[in-house]
Amino acid sequence: MRKKVIAGNWKMNKTLNESQELVSKIINGLGNDRKSDVIVCTPFTSLNEVHSLIKNTPVKLGAQNMHYEESGAYTGEISADMLKSVGCEYVILGHSERRVIFEESDEIINTKLKTAISKELKVIFCVGELLEQREKGITMEVISDQVSKGLEGISSKNMGEIIIAYEPVWAIGTGKTATPQQAQEVHLFIRKLISEKYSSSIADNLIVQYGGSVKPDNAGELLSQKDIDGALVGGACLNADSFLGIISSA
Ligand code: PEP
Repeated sequence: MRKKVIAGNWKMNKTLNESQELVSKIINGLGNDRKSDVIVCTPFTSLNEVHSLIKNTPVKLGAQNMHYEESGAYTGEISADMLKSVGCEYVILGHSERRVIFEESDEIINTKLKTAISKELKVIFCVGELLEQREKGITMEVISDQVSKGLEGISSKNMGEIIIAYEPVWAIGTGKTATPQQAQEVHLFIRKLISEKYSSSIADNLIVQYGGSVKPDNAGELLSQKDIDGALVGGACLNADSFLGIISSA
């Protein structure tokens, strides 16, 4: 039985004070009947202080990106060791905003995954098709390509450190959600790909999150699908009540 994992991707939102306020409200609002794991992926500038606030609570910390090199002359970049030093357990890699706006290739994402794993950071690895790819009927080819290139060289023993987030790009920040059936179809396909590449037990244990305009009022139906093991939440995680609403639907 897989546990649900709800992660909030704060993106480029929240100053330090706002971050402290938001995470305090999330901690205070988490009920004892919570069945899912909860991760907050804050901006780099808030990680350290948010880490102090979530100590001894069930909330875990993640970053939204990192560089693949260990250190060096990479102005403006952040390394895996830096993330670990401020308490991160997770890092989001391959988010569509990194792929599209910052032109990160599958090869770069794969290199980042390998670095993260080697530094014992867990990865939320995002995949998802563009609207035109869905309309052309090539969603499964796109997902298969992103999964196989992103996981190139990642061994079975490391698959326990990876969550895959299926995020159809046309559903991110648009208010358009994939129907539970559309999402379930792709989640099942991802599990089959992992079963073929690794093993059925690795596929059975893999957490596959859905992301794309998840809100308290659609989370319950999405999360009740057999192969949807949680959510990666953007817009709705910036307000404590709506993030808590999603957590309580899980
Ligand atoms: C995201 O960017 O990971 C995301 C799912 O955003 P939103 O929930 O706003 O669609």
